[in-house]
Order: sequence, then structure tokens, then C-alpha cells
Amino acid sequence: MDQGGSGVSGTVCVTGATGFIGGHLVEQLLARGYTVRGTVRDLDAAAEGFLPELPGASERLELVWADLMKEGSFDLPIEGCETVFHVASPFTLHANDPNEQLIAPAVVGTRNVLNACARSSSVRRVVLTSSLAAMVGRADGRVITEEHWNTDSHAGRNPYSYAKTEAERTAWTFMDEEPRAFDLVVINPVGVFGPSHRTSVNTSVAYVRDLMSGKAPAIVDLDVSVVDVRDVADAHIRAMEQPDASGRYLCGHVVLSSAELVDALKAAGYHRHRFPRLRLDSPLGTRVARALAVFQPKGVRQYAHAFMGGRLRTDNTRIRTELGVEFRPVGETLGETAADLIEKGHLERR
Ligand code: NAP
Repeated sequence: MDQGGSGVSGTVCVTGATGFIGGHLVEQLLARGYTVRGTVRDLDAAAEGFLPELPGASERLELVWADLMKEGSFDLPIEGCETVFHVASPFTLHANDPNEQLIAPAVVGTRNVLNACARSSSVRRVVLTSSLAAMVGRADGRVITEEHWNTDSHAGRNPYSYAKTEAERTAWTFMDEEPRAFDLVVINPVGVFGPSHRTSVNTSVAYVRDLMSGKAPAIVDLDVSVVDVRDVADAHIRAMEQPDASGRYLCGHVVLSSAELVDALKAAGYHRHRFPRLRLDSPLGTRVARALAVFQPKGVRQYAHAFMGGRLRTDNTRIRTELGVEFRPVGETLGETAADLIEKGHLERR
């Protein structure tokens, strides 16, 4: 099946179909008529989850087991697919063993997926989900574009960011090693928000939950780069469908200060929630917040030290002009994030 002249054939593979982004990607692919092979690492759990309920799933979604750390496990789901979306990767700031929990699955997993693509007879394009974390490791006021790479993170400092940086570098190195029958397009989403198909709370969405539930002790001077999960999924599909898509695409809508994020949530109708009353978003407040960060888990503390008190700026020109991505209003994204958290019982209704 050809999708409306895009030249892309009907069967595509999505790794990490159960995820926040992966779930929306599968949903949109099915809605646009594609046949989807979704890789999951627990078939029984996935069969009980949201995926079989998606419109079109009973006819055009096949769930196949694969694990990032099992070389060869992607051969079966990938064979016969013209496009592979490699989305799966652990996303957490808390890791007791960063190598085992974050870096290896990201880096070895990417190589395993790409090896399977190289062995297949069908793959013509890989769309990799990288991250803003692969572009910038601290907020220092630079306007971040596709030219930038994170050179600040390492295994002992912000290991999630390091894992994403190394995974993307691995992918580009893989493409340079020898001629490939497929090309690589990379999407670098910023902080992803919006409603989720999952019952658990994603690491990015947890920031909104914490701000609204009384868990966040103060409003700190932390810029948050925001994009809607549905726009991220759309960007991935555009990266597949546009033949001349190439390189990296920073996928971000707006950067908000944490105070602006709170205001946007209140303006979306959630003003009665337990937002922090304490303001630590002045220069003095940042010094206090940095000192207090010692009581936070290591990963959160390291992230706060890298990004608190500095300006984060991103340029989304390339993804708007070349892929034609249009971002939905940020108030809608944040309002629907809050509504979804309430509906799933992660936040009280007020
Ligand atoms: P998520 O909801 O936690 O989803 C992660 C997915 O990866 C899940 O499907 C998970 O499967 C799968 N996975 C993790 N470890 C795996 C392993 N060893 N083998 C096979 N599958 C594994 O996170 P997300 O936010 O959707 O993230 C998806 C991608 O987007 C990641 O590459 C992440 O780095 C990137 N990203 C996310 C954000 C954001 O703000 N959310 C921003 C930029 C980039 P299970 O369901 O079995 O756990």
C-alpha cells in the first residue's frame, strides 16, 4: 500500500510501542493507514494495555517481542518494513547503575536496532528519537540548533543526557562506517508533555504533576522547553514521508520559565491546585535552591545544577520550515496534561 503518493510502503516498525511517544506514534500511524509492527519487551503486558484498543489495531497492528539488549531480537519485527522508528530507550533521571539502566540500553540498543536494519532487505529509512539532551547539557543562554552537541554530560553527571548523546552519535557513526541501503533522520524532542496512553507517569510529565500536587517545594529558576507529544509523533511521520528529510530536527515549541509554566496551567483552569507558594526564581533564590538540591536524588540534583539559574533557548526553524510541523498552543498541551493526570488519578480533582 502506498500512502497518498508519499512513496512510503505500508508496513513500518516502531520500537518501544508501549511508551509515551511510541504509543502516540503508533496511534497516528494507524490513523493514517499504515500497518505497524510495534516492538515490546513484555508481550503479555502489552496485550493487556492500550495498544490493542487503538483504532485500526485489530486489523493493522502486530506486537512483536524485542529487547534492546538482545542482539538479533529486532530482526523479525524489522524484516519487511521500509521505515523503522527507533523510539525505545529508558527515560529516567534516577539510576543506581547508569551504565546498566541508561547508557547500555540507549547505545547498545541503538546499534542492535541499526544492525537489524542493515541485515534486512527492506529498510530504506530509520527515524531515530534522540533528544534535546543530545544537543545541550547545561542552560547557558546559547540558542540551541541542530548544530549543537551536548559536551557537558558524562556517565557520572546527567547520565540520561549522556546516554542520549552517545546513542545518537552511535547512529551517525554507524551510517558513516559503510554505505547503507537506508538513510537516517533524527528527531530531537525537547520536554514532551500532553495526554498519555500509559497508566504510569512519564518523567517529563512528572514535572507538571509535582508542580500541581504540592510535591515541588518552590518555583525555581528553571527554563522548561515544551512540546506536545502528538506534535512529536506527527514530526516523526513527516520525517518518514518527506523524501528529502535529512539530518537532525530539533522538535520544540516554546521555552517557558517554571513560573510561566505554572501561570499557563492556572490559565488553563487549574488554579485551585497545590502550586508552590515559595518563589526561589531570583538569583539569590537560585543559590538557596542549589544548596537545597542536596536533599534531592542524585539525578535530579545534577539536572538542577546544570539547568537552574541559566537560560535555555531553542530554535525550531528547521522542523517548521522543512517538515512543516505546526505546534499546537502550549496552553492546550499543558491543560490536557493536567486533565489526563487527574483522569488517571495521579492528581486530585479540585
Ligand atoms: P517512556 O514512556 O518511558 O517509553 C520508553 C519506551 O522504551 C517504552 O516503550 C519502554 O518499554 C521502552 N524500553 C525501555 N527500555 C527498553 C529495553 N531494554 N528494551 C526494549 N524496550 C525498552 O518514554 P518516552 O518519553 O516515550 O521516551 C521515548 C523516547 O523519546 C526515548 O528515546 C526518550 O529518550 C525520547 N525522549 C523523550 C522525551 C520526553 O520528554 N518524554 C524528550 C526527548 C526525547 P516498556 O514499556 O517495556 O518499559
